[in-house]
Amino acid sequence: MSLLSVEAALERILEGVAPTPVERAAIEAAHGRTLAEPIPALLTQPPFDASAMDGYAVRAADVARLPATLAVIGTAAAGHPFAGGVGAGQAVRIFTGAPLPAGADAVVIQENTLPEPAQGGVARVIVREGVPDQGNIRPVGIDFRAGEVLLGAGRRLGPREVSLAAAMGYASLPVRRRPRVAIISTGDELLLPGSRPGPGQIISSNHLGVSALADGAGAHAHFLGIARDTRESLEKHFAAADGADAIVTIGGASVGDHDLVAPVLRQSGMLLSFWNIAMRPGKPLMFGRLGASRVLGLPGNPVSSLVCTRVFLVPLLRALLGQPARDGRPLTARAGVTLEPNGPRQHYMRATRAAGSDGLPVATPVRSQDSSLLAPLAQADCLLIRPPLAPAIAQGAFVPILALDF
Ligand code: AMP
Ligand code: MG
Repeated sequence: MSLLSVEAALERILEGVAPTPVERAAIEAAHGRTLAEPIPALLTQPPFDASAMDGYAVRAADVARLPATLAVIGTAAAGHPFAGGVGAGQAVRIFTGAPLPAGADAVVIQENTLPEPAQGGVARVIVREGVPDQGNIRPVGIDFRAGEVLLGAGRRLGPREVSLAAAMGYASLPVRRRPRVAIISTGDELLLPGSRPGPGQIISSNHLGVSALADGAGAHAHFLGIARDTRESLEKHFAAADGADAIVTIGGASVGDHDLVAPVLRQSGMLLSFWNIAMRPGKPLMFGRLGASRVLGLPGNPVSSLVCTRVFLVPLLRALLGQPARDGRPLTARAGVTLEPNGPRQHYMRATRAAGSDGLPVATPVRSQDSSLLAPLAQADCLLIRPPLAPAIAQGAFVPILALDF
């Protein structure tokens, strides 16, 4: 039997996914959310010709020949515009961010001036040198104009986007509801973190990483606890997952006597899409649909569950958020060592990156690729991808990598 490829599995998971409903988020709480609609600027930025420097607002014609002595008739500071106009032979003391007064068309930086004793009660300034630079003025609308669409639907709102949206005039934004992810650990051997394991017991650790990855992708993860390896316990936990956009189970997905996840889910009405894929780690990955929920059955081994979460759940969450679901082009590195020919399953090798002499990173697999080991995974900072049946490659050859930047 030939196993489903990673790409074909992803295609099935993403098939027919509709984005979650639209809701409004206050701009202060919009970081990490995803825009549901394109948004036009409500304001023009800057809203007026503004000084970019501290100096004097003048008429360019008055400083065509230097030195020039001008009468200083007032002050314009940020938030405190000068109400009058600048006439011939006049200047206004101006500070960064202040509107350029009417009549002025240039700003002389203060480093090019000297104060001059007042005459007849009017302060004066001598412009000594330099030509007024156009860069000293920020023209109205140079950043953006009202009506311009600057952020599109599906755009994730990071630090830059929330600052921009605020400057565009928004107090709240139309965003996608966070996808609800219900997470269930399964296994008679599992204890909650912080417990002291008795004979044969271990801590359920994976649900924390899966949950963190889901939240980091913009979802709302909810841990429903540990289900025992019994039909009753599993059924109870699946019932509690009702209403989730994605139900994620951890463990119990292989074909052992205690691996009841898929059989119980099918009995509960799940339409099984696949169970087992050509991936390493993560072969016993299961996927199906239960009502409106998509169900991802992750293998229990810690590395498998986290790698599968990154490779399959994150794209599903992106699709639910209306973002482009797939990763962009994989990053390229050079292999730090010679690599053996790969088997039939796409291998995600845990690797560390170092700076290479030609600017490309050099990715070297960590010593143990055992999918049960969390310490080497924590030591790694990327996954080196070996496609199915890839031939052996020499040290220094190009390899695709996926950054573990979470
Ligand atoms: P399973 O897929 O249930 O056969 O589990 C495979 C391996 O992963 C077993 O050694 C389990 O004890 C371990 N395992 C399963 N679930 C978890 C979990 N939530 N956290 C840590 N290890 C787990
Ligand atoms: Mg188990």
